[in-house]
Amino acid sequence: MLRDAINFLRAAIRFPIFLWAWIRAKPVSLEVASYRLRLCCDCEELELFTRQCRKCWCFVGLKVQWKAEKCPIGKWDRDDT
Ligand code: SF4
Repeated sequence: MLRDAINFLRAAIRFPIFLWAWIRAKPVSLEVASYRLRLCCDCEELELFTRQCRKCWCFVGLKVQWKAEKCPIGKWDRDDT
């Protein structure tokens, strides 16, 4: 419970930074983003209502598009190209 709250706060802090970085950074290709998103959509850690990952509380629709991101439980990685 406390860990979830901490992770949620971390995500709330990270989100504006993430959004800023996503706007500035070159996103991954559409194929890579689609591949990552497919894995997230099949993942038991996906919060369906908000489309957030329960492990890192990132919004997966954005997370999968950023080159520097990786899945916290190793389902996909930065090097997936
Ligand atoms: S980032 Fe990883 S743990 Fe989170 S929803 Fe996607 S596949 Fe699941």
